[in-house]
Amino acid sequence: MIEAIATQIGVALIQAEAFENLEDLNQQLEALDRTRSNLIAITGHELRTPLSTIQVCLESLASEPDMSPDLRQVMLNSALTDGERMRKLIQDFLTLSRLESGRIEWKVEPLPLWECVDLALSSLQARRSANPIPQIITQLSTELPLVQVDGEWLVEVLSKLLDNACKFTDAKGRITIQAQRLGTDKLEVTVSDTGRGIEANRLETVFDRFYQEEGALRRTTGGTGLGLAICRQIITNWGGQIWAESGGKDCGSQFHFTVPIVPLEEKQSMSTRRKR
Ligand code: ADP
Repeated sequence: MIEAIATQIGVALIQAEAFENLEDLNQQLEALDRTRSNLIAITGHELRTPLSTIQVCLESLASEPDMSPDLRQVMLNSALTDGERMRKLIQDFLTLSRLESGRIEWKVEPLPLWECVDLALSSLQARRSANPIPQIITQLSTELPLVQVDGEWLVEVLSKLLDNACKFTDAKGRITIQAQRLGTDKLEVTVSDTGRGIEANRLETVFDRFYQEEGALRRTTGGTGLGLAICRQIITNWGGQIWAESGGKDCGSQFHFTVPIVPLEEKQSMSTRRKR
């Protein structure tokens, strides 16, 4: 009899716990759904602005055949710039959605950090060949352990940080890439610049989706406000952290992130890669 009651109490407790878990799950699903709706609403709003500009420019070009060649060129340039902004926005939005939904097949493997830095620098130079960029200094010790990541996505993180450093630093300024081992299991990578800096109360908000310092500035820098949110998704997926530091306005910024490294015994048994 006592045994039967105990069993019933046990079953009731399990049911209550399952119910609580179900409630938790429901709450999580609701929160996810709210986030998804917000993201779609904000993206829609962000897309409407460039789309309106393109529409106005094309309407003017179509309705004013006697428009001066100079004004015509201004209208065309404006439409092209906003078209490119829409393309980047859609691309970043899709990348962020893929990362958040967990639909990425990560190809994690041991890699030397310099290999990813080299690739990110080459693509940066190709993208920005038309504009002068600040001096870039790479300070990476040959003793650094191999990182255990998906190289393509690490290049994406480095490219976004380097792009930002270029955007917010005068061409006469300097960008530095450094790395140091932290304990036994990770490496800290730092991309610092001597640019316009970030105020203390914005150091965390810069990682929010669509955060940009001033609305007007985005027109000149051409960003989407999604770059750092994407970097955070990638880095936290590998169990790392990413954060910003700055001396304040006009005192430069430092972006740090951590990545896992290959344990020493594995590294010793691996075939050696090119060293620098
Ligand atoms: P964006 O596409 O606008 O660059 P990000 O998410 O990459 O979007 O960056 C968000 C905002 O963070 C930028 O618009 C800028 O205000 C600030 N920011 C990012 N990197 C830097 C930097 N190196 N120096 C100063 N501000 C920065």
